[in-house]
Amino acid sequence: MSVAILGSLARTALPGVIRWCLGYAMLAVASAWILIAGTRGGAITIVGVSFATMGAVLLLVQGTRSFFGAPAVRRDEVLALALLCAALAYFTLVSPKVGARGVLISLGLIYGRIAVGVLALRHASGERTRYACRLIAASAWLGALFYFARIAVIVFGVAPTLSFIQPSPWNVVLLGLAIVTLPCMSTGMVMLAHARILERMEKLATTDELTGALTRRAFMERANALLCEVRARGGLLSIAILDIDKFKAVNDSFGHAVGDRLLAQVSSAIAAQLRACDLFGRLGGEEFAVVFAYADKDDALRMTNELRGAVERSSADGVSCTLSAGVDGIGAHDTLESAIVRADSALYVAKASGRNRVTVANLPELSGA
Ligand code: GH3
Ligand code: MG
Ligand code: MG
Repeated sequence: MSVAILGSLARTALPGVIRWCLGYAMLAVASAWILIAGTRGGAITIVGVSFATMGAVLLLVQGTRSFFGAPAVRRDEVLALALLCAALAYFTLVSPKVGARGVLISLGLIYGRIAVGVLALRHASGERTRYACRLIAASAWLGALFYFARIAVIVFGVAPTLSFIQPSPWNVVLLGLAIVTLPCMSTGMVMLAHARILERMEKLATTDELTGALTRRAFMERANALLCEVRARGGLLSIAILDIDKFKAVNDSFGHAVGDRLLAQVSSAIAAQLRACDLFGRLGGEEFAVVFAYADKDDALRMTNELRGAVERSSADGVSCTLSAGVDGIGAHDTLESAIVRADSALYVAKASGRNRVTVANLPELSGA
């Protein structure tokens, strides 16, 4: 079931998901092999099942690492698991020792569970993924606990293991409990993948592809939310409408592709200059808007002039441009729309008085005083 569900997500191209799916597939192969071979299974079955299980451990850990953005393969880990496989083969083919095999394979499984749990908990800070990460960590570590108990049972000889295929009742119970935690882990993984897909969709819907700025609709939505939040804390807000000067001439002289790259460059220069609490959106074409949180119109004037300077210094393909802007404060009883209209009129004045400048609106804002 886990293979089928994780497999259905393989085409999303999310990092790590294919490794997760292959890991679970190897566990399924190992389980099926034991079932089919039954008590008739010989050394080849034991070695094959052990190798498949260790391969699954490696894939699940690598998949988790990759999902969270780290390089999947770690040489020391691969080497350690290869050595463990060699030891498993030794205690099967050269000097058969059931107990040693049980301990070794449990150690490999414990390593995998602990590693996956640690990785999941390290990334459990996101609002949307916290639950899934904790579910993965809890089920992974619970499984590890059962494998520890299994080692204790073997080492202290509580119930001697007859063979890998004919384990003691203790072994069956502990292995069974550990295996029951596997679908819980894969459920967490599927939840994580879904959260990541949702994040991607949201980003696509709210971010302008060329410039990385918020789309007009997302900007208006978030700006209204920011307005409520900052006002509730007694803070001031201001808005700036920015428009690139003579951008049509850039397209006409250097081509649309250069225009596109310059637009992207200008946007990243602006975004790099803004504080984390500000909002940056593309209203359309080469026109942008910024909401400055906790800033009156003097602060906004200063910060918009800094943006203007940053744009002037940036270039793409050796082409640069300038920016004009209109700025105004957003009064206590103002709407975002009316503040935009005033800032837009100020922008018109900036354009009319020579461009490459920032003008503050001279219409009174609604203060509610
Ligand atoms: P002004 O200083 O008065 O703002 O002059 P302008 O040429 O910038 O203004 P106008 O509104 O006449 O032209 C804007 C141009 O911006 C027209 C359009 O070709 C260009 N433009 C709008 N969006 C894009 C885009 O996504 N990529 C490119 N390359 N050009 C764009
Ligand atoms: Mg323009
Ligand atoms: Mg324009």
